[in-house]
Amino acid sequence: MRALLTLNTGSSSIKFRLFGLGADLPFLLGGKVTDIGGNAVFQVHEEEHSRDETHILPTGTTHESALSYVLDWLLSHQDGWTLDAAAHRIVHGGERYRAPVRLDAEAMRYLQSLCPLAPLHQPHNLAAIDALAKLHTNLPQYGCFDTAFHTGHDALRIAYALPESARAHGVRRYGFHGLSYAWIAHCLRCDYPALSQARVVAAHLGNGASLCAMRDGKSIDTTMGMTALDGLPMGTRCGSIDAGATIYMQRKMGLTVDALEQLLYNESGLKGLSGISNDARTLSESSDPRARFALDYFVWKCTQHIAAMAATLGGIDALVFTGGIGENNAGIRAQITQGLSFLPIFENLVVPANEERGMALEIYETFGKELTR
Ligand code: ADP
Repeated sequence: MRALLTLNTGSSSIKFRLFGLGADLPFLLGGKVTDIGGNAVFQVHEEEHSRDETHILPTGTTHESALSYVLDWLLSHQDGWTLDAAAHRIVHGGERYRAPVRLDAEAMRYLQSLCPLAPLHQPHNLAAIDALAKLHTNLPQYGCFDTAFHTGHDALRIAYALPESARAHGVRRYGFHGLSYAWIAHCLRCDYPALSQARVVAAHLGNGASLCAMRDGKSIDTTMGMTALDGLPMGTRCGSIDAGATIYMQRKMGLTVDALEQLLYNESGLKGLSGISNDARTLSESSDPRARFALDYFVWKCTQHIAAMAATLGGIDALVFTGGIGENNAGIRAQITQGLSFLPIFENLVVPANEERGMALEIYETFGKELTR
C-alpha cells in the first residue's frame, strides 16, 4: 500500500504519523521525538493512541538527525507499505495559500518570507522540509497550512484599524490553528450533521490557544490575528494586549525588538502570570495562589472571547472543545461554560484534536489521484 507521512515539527519536537493512501486513510504507524536540543526521546506506536516503543536518542540530537532517525526507523519497519509522499504542517501560508500545495523551490521562498510572522513555528516547519529533501530526494512533499481554513474571512474580520500606509505593507489578520478547526468541521459533518450547519464556536485550548467562530462548517472569525500571539492568553504567549503597552515596554525597559519578542512569545501567558509553569495541568494541581490566579485569568479570557465569537455569529448553538486543555481539563471546561450561562442553552462537545489525520485527508482529497496513479 502507498503511504503518506505527516510531520508536525515544533521548536523541540517532531510528531509523525503514517497513513495508507486509501479512502479511509488507515493509520499505519505514529510517534514523536520530543525534547530535541535536550534529552531527545523517540516514541513510536502502532495504534492511533497507544505508546509502544521508546528509545533515548544521543545527546546533541538535532531536528535533522531526529528526522533521519525517524525515517531510518520507518524504512526498516516497512510492512506492506511504501513511503510515497510527505505532508508538513506549516503554520503560515500567507495570502497565497488557501489549500495544500506541493512544495517546490518557489513555494519555499515564499514561505521563508513569512518567518517573521510566525517566528516560533515557521522556521522549524521549513527546516524539516529541507532536511527531508536531503534525506529522501525525490519524495514529493506537500504543505498544509494553519492559516488556510480562515482564508474566506470577509474584509471586516481581516482588517486592523490602521491607516492604509500600514495595511499596504500586509498588516492584516490571518488566524491560525486552521488544521485543527478543519478537522472539527469534518467531525461535525460526519458525527453531528445537524450541528455542521449551525453556529459553532470551536475552542482549541492547548499550549497555543484560540477560538474559531464557524457557520456551515466554515470559519467566520477567529481570535488570532496577523501572528499567533493575539487573542487568548496561552502557555507562554500573552494573547491580546494593548499595543501601547508594548511601546511602553520598549521605551521604559529598554527592550530590543528581539527581547520584546522573547518576552511576549516565551515568557508570558500562564507561565508569566503564575511565575510557576506554562502547563495548565501543573497549575491545576498546585495550591499556590499565583497558579489559581493564572488559571482564573485564562478562564475569564476564554469566556469573554467565546462571547465575542458568539456575537459575530449572532448566537451560539454549540461550543466544541479541543486541544490538551480542552480535551482533558474538565474543571476548566466547566468554569468556562458556567461563565457563559447567561447565553441561551447550547450544546457542549469535546472533539479530540487530530491535525495529522486532517492533513492526510486534505492531501488525499487534493492530490490523491496523482499520488495513487
Ligand atoms: P500543543 O499546543 O503544544 O499541541 P497540547 O494540545 O498538548 O499542546 O496542550 C498542552 C496543554 O494541555 C498543557 O497545558 C497541559 O497541561 C494540558 N494537558 C494535556 N494533557 C492533559 C491531561 N491529561 N490532563 C490535564 N491537562 C492536560
